[in-house]
Amino acid sequence: MDSTSAAETRPLHQGEVPVYMETGKAYPRAVKGTFRSLKWWATLLTLGWWHLAPFLRWDRGPGAPDQAILIDLPGRRAYFLFIEIWPQEVYYLTGILLIAAIALFLMSALAGRVWCGFLCWQTVYTDLFVWVERQVVGDRNQRIVFDAQKMSPAKLGRLALINLGWLIIAAACGIGFTLWFGDAFEMLGDILTGNASTAVYGTIAVIGGFCFLLAGYARERVCVYLCPYSRFQSAMFDEHSLIVTYEAWRGETRAPAGRDANFEGRGHCVDCRACVQACPTGIDIRNGNQLACIGCALCIDACDTVMDRFKLPRGLISYDSSFNIAARGSGAKPQYRPIRPRTLIYGGIMLLAATVMLARLASRPDVDVNVLHERSPLFVQMSDGSIRNGYVYKVLNMKAEPRTFGLTLAGLDGATMDVVGGESNVTRAELQVARDSVGTFRVYVSAPADKITGRSMPVTFELSGPSRTVRTDSLFAGPEK
Ligand code: SF4
Ligand code: SF4
Repeated sequence: MDSTSAAETRPLHQGEVPVYMETGKAYPRAVKGTFRSLKWWATLLTLGWWHLAPFLRWDRGPGAPDQAILIDLPGRRAYFLFIEIWPQEVYYLTGILLIAAIALFLMSALAGRVWCGFLCWQTVYTDLFVWVERQVVGDRNQRIVFDAQKMSPAKLGRLALINLGWLIIAAACGIGFTLWFGDAFEMLGDILTGNASTAVYGTIAVIGGFCFLLAGYARERVCVYLCPYSRFQSAMFDEHSLIVTYEAWRGETRAPAGRDANFEGRGHCVDCRACVQACPTGIDIRNGNQLACIGCALCIDACDTVMDRFKLPRGLISYDSSFNIAARGSGAKPQYRPIRPRTLIYGGIMLLAATVMLARLASRPDVDVNVLHERSPLFVQMSDGSIRNGYVYKVLNMKAEPRTFGLTLAGLDGATMDVVGGESNVTRAELQVARDSVGTFRVYVSAPADKITGRSMPVTFELSGPSRTVRTDSLFAGPEK
């Protein structure tokens, strides 16, 4: 029985490419081999990182979160080891995303869809979900028979067991996601004891729900129809990119073979379809490189096992470049060229982005200021004739210690300040800002009327701290002269 026959839902016009083709369900057969082992290691690594990273600790001093990697949404802060990213520094996130995207391009240019086949969470979770099916029902043939059986209490029980296994994995996925956004130990305790907030349970339900549906029921359709990356990644390939390929020059002409077959004058492919049956997307790699091939390399393991059985050289299906396939077919010497213009460009962009980010990180200020001139009213004339303007003055203390700053004015003769709740009628005000926080001060600046020569005069706020002085220009409004 074969699961790969495609049934289109309506007849196509001549030359029309179907947007969606309903294909039979894939029942990937279990395989053993190098790439299968690599895939398990990749699963261990990706899921290990996903679930354990929030539990890593990093000492930032008293009062500060000690989670090594934390996205603190209520506090509007992100922490990565010794780096603390404030909302106005969101460009770091842009830099990280840029580097990640280019790394993906580089990976694709070098080794095809390695990301899709080994590291993407859709692949990782689908692999786990299929493993659950195997434990409950069995391998490919048993699953095909099981699906074809009429519903019965026994079948219902096994379906319930499969779905329960999927639900546990999906819930773990959702819980793992939420732990990046709060203290992992505390949050996990709250979740397990029913004391977490509705928002936390809601997030687990949404993320876990997507995991359940995408890995349990949508499977390879996500890669073929939903994922945008599968659509444009071929733009990153060239003739030297390694992709999973069938060496047709060696495999054809294919034909079934007995155990002691003579392969003189015929191809090495014995048409056993082991590669097709191992494929999680249900395709036949012998038909050439296809959009649905996620590069998982399980067909390589399947075919190598067959080649071993017939004492033929391994690698009828292998990671190879189209350049090498053509070279091998024509008897020329194959060669792999990882250093090429495209890989150099990708590597160069990554290096440049990383250098800019590191330089910016090394020179980032530990204090920032924001001044807002009050508009309503723009100014007030006091009983002694002086003109008064109001400002909201915000100081971002990015250090893990409380600090006292001195605030002075420049550019406005005779001006004095009143800090609401602080000093009055001073030319230098002291502002205290708690550690790691934004201090917001309402400051009134008064200047003698005879010094105000226009409706809008420049004024500069100078904030002196232990490490640097921050000058911020603003305007001082007065009556028309
Ligand atoms: S054709 Fe091979 S590499 Fe591609 S998805 Fe199928 S098993 Fe994986
Ligand atoms: S597993 Fe190898 S020998 Fe068997 S059909 Fe696929 S390519 Fe041919």
